[in-house]
Amino acid sequence: MSKFVPLPISRNEMLERGWDEIDIVFVTGDAYVDHPSFAAALLARVLEAEGLRVGILAQPDWRSAEAWKTFGPPTLAFCVSAGNMDSMINHYTANRKVRNDDAYSPDGKIGLRPDRATLSYCQRAREAYPGCVVIAGGVEASLRRISHYDYWSDKVKRSIVLDSKADLVVYGMGETPLLEIVRRLKSGESVETIRDVRGTAYRLKKSEDLPEETETTIHLPSHEEVEEDKSQFARMTRIVYENLSPFNAATLVQEHSEEAVVVNPPSFPLATEELDRIYGLPFTRKPHPCYGKSRIPAFDVIRNSVQIHRGCYGGCSFCSLTAHQGKFVQSRSKESICNEISHLAGTPVQKTIISDLGGPTANMYQTGCKNDDAKKTCKKTSCLVPIPCENLNADHGELIDLMQAVRTLPNVDRVFIASGVRTDLALLDSRYINELIEHHVGGHLKTAPEHTDPYVLKLMNKPTLENYDAFCRLFERISDGAEKEQYLVPYLIAGFPGSTLKMTVETAVTLKRLGIRSEQVQEFIPGPFELATCMYYTGLNPLDGQPVYVPRRLRERRLQKSLLMYDNPANYHDIKSALIESGCEDLIGTGPDCLIPPYPPKSLTLKQTSRIKRLQKQNEKAKQEKNQRRENFEQERRVSNSPFNRRQVRVEPDERRPPRREHSPRLGDDSYNKNREKGERRPFRKGPPKKGPRKPWKRREDG
Ligand code: SF4
Repeated sequence: MSKFVPLPISRNEMLERGWDEIDIVFVTGDAYVDHPSFAAALLARVLEAEGLRVGILAQPDWRSAEAWKTFGPPTLAFCVSAGNMDSMINHYTANRKVRNDDAYSPDGKIGLRPDRATLSYCQRAREAYPGCVVIAGGVEASLRRISHYDYWSDKVKRSIVLDSKADLVVYGMGETPLLEIVRRLKSGESVETIRDVRGTAYRLKKSEDLPEETETTIHLPSHEEVEEDKSQFARMTRIVYENLSPFNAATLVQEHSEEAVVVNPPSFPLATEELDRIYGLPFTRKPHPCYGKSRIPAFDVIRNSVQIHRGCYGGCSFCSLTAHQGKFVQSRSKESICNEISHLAGTPVQKTIISDLGGPTANMYQTGCKNDDAKKTCKKTSCLVPIPCENLNADHGELIDLMQAVRTLPNVDRVFIASGVRTDLALLDSRYINELIEHHVGGHLKTAPEHTDPYVLKLMNKPTLENYDAFCRLFERISDGAEKEQYLVPYLIAGFPGSTLKMTVETAVTLKRLGIRSEQVQEFIPGPFELATCMYYTGLNPLDGQPVYVPRRLRERRLQKSLLMYDNPANYHDIKSALIESGCEDLIGTGPDCLIPPYPPKSLTLKQTSRIKRLQKQNEKAKQEKNQRRENFEQERRVSNSPFNRRQVRVEPDERRPPRREHSPRLGDDSYNKNREKGERRPFRKGPPKKGPRKPWKRREDG
């Protein structure tokens, strides 16, 4: 692959290619890594294959429009994306604190993209070249295409279609809609007339008529309504989720004051041949050489990984992937995947390890709905919960074939599965579990039970605890049979809507009883467009309208997180507070069912004691230094106050004190010298100052 060259990121690189102008400028909030896992690189290569001249503007300085002029005005359009993640999730933690690093930037440097990057990038494009065509896309634009709750400002925000002033917003996977748009632009069509492309949203000006409400056009509650009334927000979310299937979705219209946003139905899933063609494009699979030796953390993770499919029909309510990639799984062919791995493979001496053979979920390759008629009318958010649908083809045969083929490729050492395994789906085909555990687990396997409480699991759209337990037992049995020491790494979420402190205590007890220890507990972050975000904001389950308890206070979320990591001694005091608050003091003790002992663990006490000792030592030292300084000062003062020593002792000004003000009498003073000659000392003033009219203050002449 080294023979391939990256796309130009500067004017010089553009000229080197013999281009005097550019057709499309891709603006992205991520560093430019020419790898199919980076959306901007993928789409840019798709457009390049269409014969277009494409330039990349990666992480430009958004404080001025200068960077947008790098290639000159594009003949067709600016394509703008905040990057692979929503810029707010990229910048802030669940506690709204600034993150320490950005996995998509060189050396993990934070601050190379603005907050709400899509808005700034679109605006700068307009400033640089007024009248140019701007097409926004990517996860951020996609998930903010209608009114949405923004956790970081705690407000319902308008559609990004209006705020960004982009001509079109492409949502979901962008290849098909973007290709159609640029083909039509190239043929001379005005962007204002391109309004019928699937997978796009556009603005309806106040001078234009609203489309009529029909069977195929639904009017959502207006922005003003969802802003004022939480039940309307929940209603809007339900309607949107019912219209995510490209086979039966309606066009959605939402009014915003005098304007409106129109969201066309999603684009159809790509066929296997089309996916193969895209993944076979000439990616260098490396960061652009301009980054030199800088590391891009996200690239380190995916460097030797291969994506085998897109889409997920799990329908977890805390994940917006279904809203972005869709629930219909699109798989690559075995040949295409093997071909890609052969390019990655090393030499017979230094064989390559494939770090991940997966997708959004590890085990959905070539599975999905097998009933085309049912598919056309189905509006379910998940094909797996509450029970697997009868129309679901859960046969893992193709995936097993692929796994076997890949691990026998020449110069491939090991092939691991690092993507999360959907356990309820895996249990439907135990052959897969055998294959996985015997050949593709690198010591640890990621699974995501997320919680153990049945009510919370239902709100999450996750399988039951019994299901997870069955998977754990099977995993243990097969690992023992294969004589392998392997562990499950369970992922859990704290502070999820519906989860009370008491429920979390019960979850911790269950985890302890089942011997599940988790070091991967994530606090729930309400990202835009998720079902769970709607629950968080409205306190209602959008799917059935039932009220949901929401743990909003940071302290409660922290206590829940500590409870889920019940065996971490550092969490002792938090867990104790949580148990007392939820009336479960009986779980504090030394019994086998107790969560924590009555006294802090020795390691914690020792840690605390050593910390206290260290602080005491520091205090003691500071005190001694202070006393020493005071003593020195007193001594200096005594010496300096003696008129006989004044000439001999030089008093250094103390850094902490302002410079000493000189006061009379001074050596140059006549009266003082006269008294000194007489051997008289200056009278020491006693008692209160004399009363009477004060003399006017006079500046003393120097010298
Ligand atoms: S019919 Fe069943 S398998 Fe098919 S899409 Fe709907 S839920 Fe999924």
